[in-house]
Amino acid sequence: MKCIECGGAYKRIIGPYTFKDRFFGDVLLDLEYDLCEKCGNILLPPKSVRAIDGELCAIRKIMTWTREEPGWYTCAQDGICREANGMWWFYRRGRPLSERTGPYLTLEKAKEGADKIQKLQDKAKRK
Ligand SMILES: [Zn+2]
Repeated sequence: MKCIECGGAYKRIIGPYTFKDRFFGDVLLDLEYDLCEKCGNILLPPKSVRAIDGELCAIRKIMTWTREEPGWYTCAQDGICREANGMWWFYRRGRPLSERTGPYLTLEKAKEGADKIQKLQDKAKRK
């Protein structure tokens, strides 16, 4: 596969990888990723993206939902939105809209649902 930025060649790396989290700053993980030897562009395979997700869930034992704008409640990585029909939906950041969860009748139910999903992912990661 050629680099999407410069057309150079990717090299598969397995080793320490640092990613930025907007609340926790730099997080270091051992990951597999593709590095362009020409421009330094990095591609993360799906399993590494999942590993990062899992790590973030583990870091955030408790999700704190805050209201950022009308109809939207967000925690560190995801959001709950109230749709026009009055129903609540849970959106995962970086995931397609088709993977939203819901509808939930109330914000509280949506928070519970979101919490449950996070815990399942947390568990899956530890296996
Ligand atoms: Zn490149």
